[in-house]
Amino acid sequence: MSDLAPLKIELCAPRGFCAGVDRAIQIVELALERFGPPVYVRHEIVHNKFVVDSLRAKGAVFVEELSEVPDTDAPVVFSAHGVAKAVPAEAASRNMFYLDATCPLVSKVHKEAQLHFKRGREVILIGHAGHPEVVGTMGQLPEGAITLVETVEDVANLKPENPDNLAWVSQTTLSVDDTRAIVAALSDRFPAIASPHKDDICYATTNRQEAVKAVAPNVDAMIVVGAPNSSNSQRLREVAERAGCPRAVLLQRAGEIDWSAFEGIRSLGITAGASAPETLVEEIIAAFAEHYEVTVETVRTADETIAFNLPRELRTAAAE
Ligand code: SF4
Repeated sequence: MSDLAPLKIELCAPRGFCAGVDRAIQIVELALERFGPPVYVRHEIVHNKFVVDSLRAKGAVFVEELSEVPDTDAPVVFSAHGVAKAVPAEAASRNMFYLDATCPLVSKVHKEAQLHFKRGREVILIGHAGHPEVVGTMGQLPEGAITLVETVEDVANLKPENPDNLAWVSQTTLSVDDTRAIVAALSDRFPAIASPHKDDICYATTNRQEAVKAVAPNVDAMIVVGAPNSSNSQRLREVAERAGCPRAVLLQRAGEIDWSAFEGIRSLGITAGASAPETLVEEIIAAFAEHYEVTVETVRTADETIAFNLPRELRTAAAE
């Protein structure tokens, strides 16, 4: 008999990699295979240090701006978060060979914003200032055409030129509940505002939040595996807290576990943000197994089968 205390781990499912992240990583890997290193990547391809470091080890070179890329024939990949229109324009003007790893669900929001603009509407974007996806979406239209709102208070302070001719779009990785409140405030103030069919929060964000809601109220603590700059991971931690979990923490690796914070727990929920690989979840479970007698149970709230096509330039490489 082990003298370790028992610990029941409830693993949220779905968790971890989404179809957009999977595709973005594949794009860099296939570009490395097909064209050889270096492959330049503008911004972290996805917000996860482990993923970025593994690709760097294979020959990817990460930069924040195209100005850091020398004149080269090597491929330049744009990250899953999407980029402002000025970025491919700059790449084209420098005759760069670029591959766009923007998630198709982010591109869909770009198209919605462009369509509203074409119809003469002022566009309200619900999102977090400074996040690369927000910078990319705002950069689809001329400066001033999109107004960012982050909170219900921001909605109260909006001063649109024509309140009867507005539309809203959103970042894909927001809290479903917070966004609902902001949308309600928008519709209250501007009943004529044009909306997406549902919202722009992607299936992966929605499903991961639902799984956390199912687990969080039943466990003594919850770990979200993900990076501090990952929006969807941060939201998962908040969702766990709001769903009644007394201790919800965001961790990148097992080495960051503060064991004193988990003393005396008998149950633990684990999930992972859309950019966190499963191997990091396994690493954390293994670390707990050294301190507790663990049993692991999966709590599944949705099945995911979605997959996205690769860019044309890489499709044959994938088939080989
Ligand atoms: S979190 Fe959603 S929008 Fe972002 S890459 Fe994944 S599927 Fe695409």
